[in-house]
Amino acid sequence: MTPSRSHLPPATVTATDPATASMPSAPAPSPAQAGSPARAARPVVFRDVRPFGAEDPVDLTVVDGRITDRPAPRDAEVIDGGGRIALPALVDAHIHPDKTTWGGPWVSRAQASGIADFAAQDVELFRGRQRSVAERAYGLMAHAVTRGTRAMRAHADIAPAYGLTCLEGVAQARDRLAHALDVQLVAFPQHGVIRAPGTAELLREAARSGLVDLIGGIDPTGFDRSPDAHLAQLDLVFDLADRYGVGLDIHLHDRGEPGLTALRGIIDRTRALSLRGRVTVSHVFCLPGLTESQLADVAADVADLDIALTTVAPSASLVLPVTRLKEHGVRVGLGSDGVRDAWSPFGNADMLHRTHLLGWVRDVRLDTELAGCYETGSHGGAAVLGLPRADLSPGSPADFLLVRGECVPQIVVDLPARDMVVHGCRVVARDGALTC
Ligand SMILES: [Zn+2]
Repeated sequence: MTPSRSHLPPATVTATDPATASMPSAPAPSPAQAGSPARAARPVVFRDVRPFGAEDPVDLTVVDGRITDRPAPRDAEVIDGGGRIALPALVDAHIHPDKTTWGGPWVSRAQASGIADFAAQDVELFRGRQRSVAERAYGLMAHAVTRGTRAMRAHADIAPAYGLTCLEGVAQARDRLAHALDVQLVAFPQHGVIRAPGTAELLREAARSGLVDLIGGIDPTGFDRSPDAHLAQLDLVFDLADRYGVGLDIHLHDRGEPGLTALRGIIDRTRALSLRGRVTVSHVFCLPGLTESQLADVAADVADLDIALTTVAPSASLVLPVTRLKEHGVRVGLGSDGVRDAWSPFGNADMLHRTHLLGWVRDVRLDTELAGCYETGSHGGAAVLGLPRADLSPGSPADFLLVRGECVPQIVVDLPARDMVVHGCRVVARDGALTC
């Protein structure tokens, strides 16, 4: 366990024009693209809020979807924050909305002893569900919005068993929620590329479709090892990323030397194809067990190539050493992973809860450590997705949540209700329900 020493930044106080008055809210346009707040939305003043738990309440003024320190326009809508704490909205850097049973009846799971077993149960569940992928994914993603998530990187299975169905379903959910949530979509070969013939063609089709932002991969030295060519899966997915101008986000569960071999293969190909800043490795279970000097060696290359990493804080032994990696300049995000799917009955797509779990598995005690967990769940994920920090400073996207509480560390521990969630230019959720 390594303590976090990061602090959340202070917010900027803005003055409120006393002439502003409360008026009914007007509909606002959807953001045109991830990280770009909508233009021409009506200005809003969030009155009486406490950024990061500041003792003295302030007014936060939002113009064109961004925080401003300029005086509020006279026609601004005023929304009473009631002394609530304002916090940066959260980013789910790794989630699988296509697999979820969220919102449906309880599912009893069978024994499984490896990725192939879990993947087979995914297929069984997929075939047995009454609700479409689009409907299930929408239910989960909408729920995430109500819990304060501003953006997510959603992996959707690509395999001969599904074709592009899972991908298209999550894309539909993404489109329905475009006003409230920025979504990056990954075409994820859960069943392997080498061991599931036909997957490579589907990945190519996905990359060409324009539906996906990234191509995925999975354990090229373990689960999806080629008997003929070393790291053949990596050659294939890197070629697709290079050819079609999409990013890469590769699941790497392999531990020890097989995991490190795969990671070195990713590093080498990122360098060779000049894909700096466009590659993410998820889970990376081969890193937590390394010594300081071993980690420093790997982290130097990862930072040099600006390869991002994500963790879902699964356990004390498998959670990434977030603080040490950040000290090496590595972007690290936090995610939900699967939510109530064939793999696990657990999960809730609540990123505040995930920051709590990050602190729990790392056995943190100090306020700075707890605040660091929140920072990983908010700014860490934003960095992985290439989004601007929503740190409540002038010019930052107005993506924040309002909660009742004392301070950031206490909120990470107590997990208060998310009374209001703001995305860009509008309140997208109140009291746990979408407003639009
Ligand atoms: Zn995953």
